[in-house]
Amino acid sequence: MKSKNNIVVRMAPSPTGNLHIGTARTTLFNYLFAKQRGGKFILRIDDTDRERSTKAFEQNILDGLIWLGLEHDELYRQSEREDIYKKFLKQMLDSGFVYISKEEVTEAGQRNEVIRLKNPNKKVVFEDLVRGSVEFDTTELGDFVVAKSLEEPLYHLASVVDDHEMAITHVIRGEDGISNTPRQILIQEAIRATRPIYAHLPLILASDRSKLSKRKHGEAVWIDTYKNKGYSPQAIINYLALLGWNPGTNQEIFTLDELIKVFDISRVHKGGAIFDEKKLAWVNRKHFNLDKVRNK
Ligand code: GLU
Repeated sequence: MKSKNNIVVRMAPSPTGNLHIGTARTTLFNYLFAKQRGGKFILRIDDTDRERSTKAFEQNILDGLIWLGLEHDELYRQSEREDIYKKFLKQMLDSGFVYISKEEVTEAGQRNEVIRLKNPNKKVVFEDLVRGSVEFDTTELGDFVVAKSLEEPLYHLASVVDDHEMAITHVIRGEDGISNTPRQILIQEAIRATRPIYAHLPLILASDRSKLSKRKHGEAVWIDTYKNKGYSPQAIINYLALLGWNPGTNQEIFTLDELIKVFDISRVHKGGAIFDEKKLAWVNRKHFNLDKVRNK
């Protein structure tokens, strides 16, 4: 069924780790954008990387998002959609947009085959709701690999096919996804898909302005860490909303329903957003006091 205004967004986490603060923030912005427009929010588990994806990580992500109150309207797993990717790959082979290339002989003496996109080597320009007009020359990408075989599509291909099949209107994702966009636009053109509107959100940084990452910051990047410390889901949601966005007023304390009303993607800023647990603790106390007043 088509949703009102046809707004459809997706969050596409890879289940290669527990629910990360950045994943939760980006999910929240997708959720707010869809809900304020009567649109649909799809959760898609990007598990094409069979070696690194696990069911335990998938469950941690699903449970964490539900705990935060970010319920999806539909759920998909890429591992269950291989026939669809195969159909598109075959079409692209037939129409000459991709070709099978023989790779170097491997150490084991095998000659691998991969499927590569025939790069039209051109300038790609797209409008980003956060960053304005973005231009890339695709020449430097060469004929990049889109699948290891008809049965093994890689991320870019699976993502573009899914966005097309699911009629995604807006791709709202972290800034680290911006370099994927030119490749994905070339694949869209090869399968004649409509280009979605893009919004690349600022990264979340640690207090030393380095990117918040598992490798460097350990468990401090997981939502579970804050859940286990006793922060409420309402406070975490409220604080995440302020990571990269502000309402343009002095108000800092919001419920999820209020955020749906006031969130404005055009107010998302480009610069990195610093995660500050002290501020989260302050927001948590404010929510705690609000609850006391409400329950009187
Ligand atoms: N699975 C990708 C990631 O986690 C999704 C990026 C996207 O939204 O296209 O980075």
